[in-house]
Amino acid sequence: MTNDTYRHKGLRRQLAVLLKEKGIEGAEVLKAIEAVPRHLFLNSSFIERAYEDIAFPIGSGQTISRPHTVAFQTELLELKKGEKVLEIGTGSGYQTAVLLEMGVKVYTIERQKALFDLTKAFLPTIGYNPKFFYGDGYKGLPIFAPFNKIIITAGAPIIPDALLDQLKIGGILVIPLGDKVQIMTLIKKVGPKKFEKVEYGEFKFVPLLEDKEWGD
Ligand code: SAH
Repeated sequence: MTNDTYRHKGLRRQLAVLLKEKGIEGAEVLKAIEAVPRHLFLNSSFIERAYEDIAFPIGSGQTISRPHTVAFQTELLELKKGEKVLEIGTGSGYQTAVLLEMGVKVYTIERQKALFDLTKAFLPTIGYNPKFFYGDGYKGLPIFAPFNKIIITAGAPIIPDALLDQLKIGGILVIPLGDKVQIMTLIKKVGPKKFEKVEYGEFKFVPLLEDKEWGD
């Protein structure tokens, strides 16, 4: 890959070690973090700090999540190769790339046109090919449902019903729930209308916006 040097690879290895120290246990998840060239997802002014565990602005008022958050959500999904995963909030595409490194098929939705266009053009140039959709993540993708796993990468006030409907029985949905801070929440679908919930710690995300709030 162009612009990916031994130095960057070394920094990524250190990042994987740091995430392990912070409690990420899955070897596959750490391998995926080691594989994705995060510096290429950032505005060039942040490139030097790409492998620190911090979030960065990516334009349109949005952020690329911290590597720890990306790894944490990825780990909660318990991904198996070949699974169909729906991602809400494509953003920079970094989380998308990490999911693809886990060997799953990714359907990703973004509601900001500028970000959608940018990421749809960029990701394939570094070898990542999810299915891209411009639209409202609250609605999911009914025609491609059901999904084995669903990940929401923006802070949501509620769990959208449409997404619960589009989850396979036995499937897992991971969503940061809340307004100013979010509680990482895992929902397992155990029956057609039956769900189990587990809550993890506090995280901080940009908001998942509804139709009426779309200003762009
Ligand atoms: N996973 C991204 C993080 C993106 S931040 C990354 O790794 O870079 C959250 C993203 O969710 C933003 O790009 C925002 O525009 C998008 N978003 C917010 N509300 C949405 C909605 N209703 N549907 C789809 N995307 C939405």
